[in-house]
Amino acid sequence: MCRHLAYLGPPVPLARLLFDAPHALARQAWAPRDMRGGGTINADGFGVAWYPSAGADPVRYRSAAPLWSDTALPGLAAHTVSGGVLAAVRSATVGMPVVETAAAPFAEGPWLFSHNGVVRGWPDAMAGAAARLPVRDLLTLDAPTDSALLWALVRDRLRAGAPPAEALAATVALVSAAAPGSRLNLLLTDGRQIAASTVGHALSVRADATSVLVSSEPLDPGPAWTAVPDGHLLVAAPSHLDITALGRS
Ligand code: GLN
Repeated sequence: MCRHLAYLGPPVPLARLLFDAPHALARQAWAPRDMRGGGTINADGFGVAWYPSAGADPVRYRSAAPLWSDTALPGLAAHTVSGGVLAAVRSATVGMPVVETAAAPFAEGPWLFSHNGVVRGWPDAMAGAAARLPVRDLLTLDAPTDSALLWALVRDRLRAGAPPAEALAATVALVSAAAPGSRLNLLLTDGRQIAASTVGHALSVRADATSVLVSSEPLDPGPAWTAVPDGHLLVAAPSHLDITALGRS
């Protein structure tokens, strides 16, 4: 059910994350190892966004086609270098449309967002939670999917000034209460820090003094990866990593 990653650190070619690493995102798309809760391959679209320079808003490239079938992406990824990247591959939940605008990352200003999982009882379970959003936001959802609504809920809190980790934790609490059993691995960055939740799906992190890489599955077999336990909230930046239990953060 979807795979996603976010990187912050010294500029790297996008290809390193998408294609070159032994278990890069392209490989996680068609041969994932840890798809808890179902799904086999992630063929229903992909997206990648990167910060072209420090302080600039990200550039985004999305498609409804499988990542491995995009003929432009290998060249683009080989020659685009960035110090801030968020990328995702999608396995659409049954009943949800396979369209470019349903593929993460969702974006506004400096923010990039991805959701790996499913909202149980969609859409009825979310009617009450959605009603707290401005009508305009509901009329302009990226797509009629659970992930697009989750982004609107997170974005609403970011616009109100909530720090990223707080926006994710509050959204996880809201949705978990409204739609119990939902799988809510959320991933958010503004190019300076990464926030992520683990609720029902895999997530690993590799951090050192200059970089941090958060990914559904480790990109290589090296010992530097740490699995983030389920039910946790991660906040990371180069040389900073904090993992706390959700609900106690
Ligand atoms: N439910 C979301 C969608 O269909 C995310 C799916 C996933 O994690 N596979 O877009």
